Amino acid sequence: MSLGLVDAEALAALHARIDVCTACRLHETRTRAVPGDGPVTARIMAVGEAPGENEDRTGRPFVGAAGQLLTRLLQSIGLDRQDIYICNVLKCRPPGNRDPEPDEVSSCAHFLDEQIALIRPDVILLLGRHAVGRLLPGMPGISRIHGERVRRGDRLYVPLFHPAAALYNASLLRTLEEDMQRVRGYLADAEAERERLRREAEQEAARAAAVRAADEQLTLF
Ligand code: URA
Repeated sequence: MSLGLVDAEALAALHARIDVCTACRLHETRTRAVPGDGPVTARIMAVGEAPGENEDRTGRPFVGAAGQLLTRLLQSIGLDRQDIYICNVLKCRPPGNRDPEPDEVSSCAHFLDEQIALIRPDVILLLGRHAVGRLLPGMPGISRIHGERVRRGDRLYVPLFHPAAALYNASLLRTLEEDMQRVRGYLADAEAERERLRREAEQEAARAAAVRAADEQLTLF
């Protein structure tokens, strides 16, 4: 079985565990849990705050008005939503869309960690302050760091304003659109770096093969 298939099955199993989770009070009021959506092979992941009403009803993340804006923003930089893995800090809707409580965030934390470990994305878009607080704890507030790239190991994080906040605020929407254009540049840089490393590995392999061939020639005499 290919590694991709094993990962896809592991992701489906993780989603199934999230669907039946009862670890915090939110399971009592949810209609459906919202594990996440997208291919296990996604190079880009987007993490929001928590499901809203439409997501709670359908079991899918970002399907309401904020989701439509997210889809449009991704398209504006040439990304197809289908190619991205999208999920939230919380997998169940807080009643009335209130903010996540700290104990709910910690009960749910291992699920997001497992999703990141399985998908191993190159870039994580952090949608809003709760995603930033969860994955980049200790960083300054989102109004200070939105649109910047934050490198942790070989992974890139980009804090962005939450699309829901930009829905009714024209200036925030403009900022979010500009930040997305910066994301396009970051992705191009990441692609160029991947290509550079691939070429380097190729040259190294060719050099090693040439040394081996020379050694074999010598042993003939
Ligand atoms: N807002 C979020 O943070 N997540 C969703 O899935 C929908 C709206």
